[in-house]
Amino acid sequence: MRLFRSSEILGIARDTMEFALEASEETHPNEYMGFLRAEDARKLGLDRKGQVITDVLVIPGTKSDPTSATVQTNMVPNDIKAVGSVHSHPNGVLRPSDADLATFHKGDVHIIIGAPYGWSDWQVFDSSGEPRSLDVLDVPLPEEQFFDFTQADIDEELS
Ligand SMILES: [Zn+2]
Repeated sequence: MRLFRSSEILGIARDTMEFALEASEETHPNEYMGFLRAEDARKLGLDRKGQVITDVLVIPGTKSDPTSATVQTNMVPNDIKAVGSVHSHPNGVLRPSDADLATFHKGDVHIIIGAPYGWSDWQVFDSSGEPRSLDVLDVPLPEEQFFDFTQADIDEELS
C-alpha cells in the first residue's frame, strides 16, 4: 500500500489550515483526525517547485474519543497520496504522544492542533517527532477541495 509520497512541502494553504482548526473545534471534546494531501505548487499559481497542502481527508468510520482517534485501515484507499496527518489534542497539549510517534514515520508533515483551536494552537512535527516549521500560504484552492472524496470513491478504490 503506497500511502505517502515524498516531495518538498512548501506549506499549507491558509483555507486548509482554517478548515482543520474549525473541524477540530467542532469535533471537541473528541479528537479530530485526517490525512493531509497536497497539490503541485505550480497548479496553484506559485512559481516554485514543490507541493502545497490543500486537502484534509477524513477516512469514513474513523472513531475518536477525547484521547485517541482510530482510523479503520480497511477504509483507507490504496493510493490517497497523503503527505502527512493532522489530528487534534482536546487537552491542548501540543506534543506528540507515544502513540502518535509510532505513526509519524509515514509522511513528512504531522500537525497537532490543541484546544482552544486558535491560530496559535497548533504545532507541526516531522516524521521523527521533531518540531518543524510549515508556512501558511495564501493560495486559491481548487473548488470543492474538502468534499470531493465520497463513500462512492472509496468503494471504487477498493473494488
Ligand atoms: Zn496525538
